[in-house]
Amino acid sequence: MLEKSIFRDPDLAKRVIEKIRETAPKKDVVKICHVCGTHEWTITHYGLRSLLPSTVEVIAGPGCPVCVTPASEVDEAVALALKGVTVTCFGDVLRVLGSEKSLLDAKAEGADVRVVYSAMDAVRMAEKEPNKEFAFFAIGFETTAPSTAIEVLRKPPKNLSFLVSHRLIPPAMELLLGIGDLHIDGFIAPGHVSTVIGLKAYEVFPKAYRMPTVVAGFEPLDVLFAIYMILKQLREGVARLENEYVRAVSWEGNIKAQETMSKAFNIVDGEWRGLGKLPSSKFALKEDYAIYDAREKFGVRITSGRDLPPGCQCHLVMIGKIKPTECPLFMKACTPQKPVGACMVSIEGTCRIWAKSYTV
Ligand code: SF4
Repeated sequence: MLEKSIFRDPDLAKRVIEKIRETAPKKDVVKICHVCGTHEWTITHYGLRSLLPSTVEVIAGPGCPVCVTPASEVDEAVALALKGVTVTCFGDVLRVLGSEKSLLDAKAEGADVRVVYSAMDAVRMAEKEPNKEFAFFAIGFETTAPSTAIEVLRKPPKNLSFLVSHRLIPPAMELLLGIGDLHIDGFIAPGHVSTVIGLKAYEVFPKAYRMPTVVAGFEPLDVLFAIYMILKQLREGVARLENEYVRAVSWEGNIKAQETMSKAFNIVDGEWRGLGKLPSSKFALKEDYAIYDAREKFGVRITSGRDLPPGCQCHLVMIGKIKPTECPLFMKACTPQKPVGACMVSIEGTCRIWAKSYTV
């Protein structure tokens, strides 16, 4: 409660905004990129962009796990469900479209699709109904991957398998730096992922790319401080890795969670929705746990799918190339009630977040 009041203190916010104005360039525009749906929510919900000088632009990268899950992997989950396997998943995965169908469509056709809060819920369901086959559609970044990994290592019942679709954040940040005309000047790295992977996971950005990088928390003042810290580095002409979120993130991160993930998973190349294949960007079950691999067990490995419905610009929204309002379908054919693209489905999707505060 005390922390909340400190990080939403309007007087302190005014002082940080003053510092941002003093430090921002007067002419050239700098582009700061975050890669987190929760950061986008904070920025949009508190109207932080409107407080920044016109020379500071904050863009949203691929930080929504549901949005980046490719259609082919949703197709695999749908195929499992239509084969009679009970598919368990997080709530916001339900409506995301595969090449043609979502899990919700499969459910409407009679498939058994159940929403769970964690992999542990799926384990409990499988234990209660030993005569039924269950699969857990495991999506999310390094924040949710440890909880899947721990259930795999505990050797769950044989009637539960895993459709592992967990992804890693740093490779997505590297992708953004390879997009020639995006011109990012600094990164705000996600606080929750960083509690697991630690500050050290971002060392490459200042060292190899000379990119100022600041790990930040999720209160409005966390984000404003991070913007100020990046601007300060740019003004000094340096590129450092800094930790704004010292109250939660350490250099090493959560070593236990990292060990758990590396015992259960290999890191492999992975497709990201609309963005293509990113090297070393996805977790896959290790050979020792192959009996829990839903793709192998039920023969549902699908390698390509239709990521973008006609007219959808999610691939450009996800790399911060365009704003949601620049997609011709935004709040016309595509709304939170009737989403067309993945970015309008999840509460962490940029289009969905913008839609919630959109007024005509
Ligand atoms: S508004 Fe809809 S269709 Fe357009 S980019 Fe966003 S999610 Fe995709």
